[in-house]
Amino acid sequence: MTPTGPIVVLGSANMDLVTRQPRLPAPGETIAGTGFATGAGGKGLNQAVAARRAGAEVTFAGAVGDDGFGRELRAFLEAEGIATAHLRTSAQPTGIAQVSVLADGENGIVIVAGANGEDELTDGDRAAIAGASALVVQLERPLALVERALSAARAAGVRTVLTPAPVDGAAARLLPLVDVLVPNEPEALGLSGAADVEGAARHLSERVGTVIVTRGPRGALVAREGGILATVEAVAVDAVDTTGAGDTFVGVLVARLVEGAVLDDAVRAATAAAAIAVTRPGAAPAMPYRAEIEAALA
Ligand code: ATP
Repeated sequence: MTPTGPIVVLGSANMDLVTRQPRLPAPGETIAGTGFATGAGGKGLNQAVAARRAGAEVTFAGAVGDDGFGRELRAFLEAEGIATAHLRTSAQPTGIAQVSVLADGENGIVIVAGANGEDELTDGDRAAIAGASALVVQLERPLALVERALSAARAAGVRTVLTPAPVDGAAARLLPLVDVLVPNEPEALGLSGAADVEGAARHLSERVGTVIVTRGPRGALVAREGGILATVEAVAVDAVDTTGAGDTFVGVLVARLVEGAVLDDAVRAATAAAAIAVTRPGAAPAMPYRAEIEAALA
């Protein structure tokens, strides 16, 4: 039976607070910044937006605070057409990422998880997962919550997709619950303990259904059952901001897979979409819509 429910993305939602500044202040020092912007972020929210813009029905299962940032994030998701019935309002404040972009292009980031630390999985959340076409998770929510969600999906025969970011060695215990694992290069190395990326992909693919290691401008490696299945070239573009490239890749990959695309075609669409995203500034705002992905594939 082909599953027909929405993709459920269980993950983080943050308000990104981005300052531009000449350098990081020393302890006790105040310096003048040169710019400020806020934006919706968090790996969970980003992947939900990518999948939705690619044409999928998406439900976001997350938590925000009872505060202005939380209300903004909820409104942002709803404006994207993403269902928020499983977006909880927590007693904790909305998660934030304070991003300092320095004059030399380097950045420094402080994340305060806040409401993203909520670790309850309600019966309603379990029912949503059981009725999903796929469950998509990352590691910006508590590991125990992610594990319970993956177990609920597995018990219901729902396809599971994990981005192991931020990398956490303890996440190795999740691997038996994962159908599609999408690490970037450092995450693949960190999770497998292998010395090189091909070894990492092969090793991880002995423990999950399919591994896709993303390699920035070098494309991606696909592995299954201990062997490399394909190496996929990135699309050559002039990148202006690669933030969210990996999240675009995952969201579009899953959107295509739940439509019934074969793995090769889903990876090709994800690669094309991520290449579009890196040519535009920002993470979620840079993500392409279905028609743009189709045009790039034509
Ligand atoms: P981020 O943390 O910035 O979201 P990531 O480290 O998770 O990214 P990457 O491996 O950098 O993910 O990129 C994911 C995919 O995006 C790559 O497999 C590739 O298809 C595409 N991509 C990334 N950077 C570029 C680039 N400079 N040019 C073309 N495609 C790119």
